[in-house]
Amino acid sequence: MPNNEGIGVLRLQCQQMHPVGRIMKETPYQQVVFDPGAQYGDRRIWPDEQDQPQFKIDCRFCNKPVGEAATSLQTKLRDLMDSMSETIKIVVLPYV
Ligand SMILES: [Zn+2]
Repeated sequence: MPNNEGIGVLRLQCQQMHPVGRIMKETPYQQVVFDPGAQYGDRRIWPDEQDQPQFKIDCRFCNKPVGEAATSLQTKLRDLMDSMSETIKIVVLPYV
């Protein structure tokens, strides 16, 4: 059985189910990164100062910002990393 400990991907969506990026940790030794999508920019360490306390990102389809508290997203990622059965979770971010 694969050991998923320390690995997790939060797939972020707006309320219209558009993809807005991913917060992820692909290996136990890698730092958490935000991946906006290959065509939109580079991955970066997450969260940084601008992501706290509220993480915000524009949905490119709706042209509206969506977001959630960084601590809430960190908790969701930690719960996912602790899960032995799941490594990917979809998180719907409300408009802000
Ligand atoms: Zn959208």
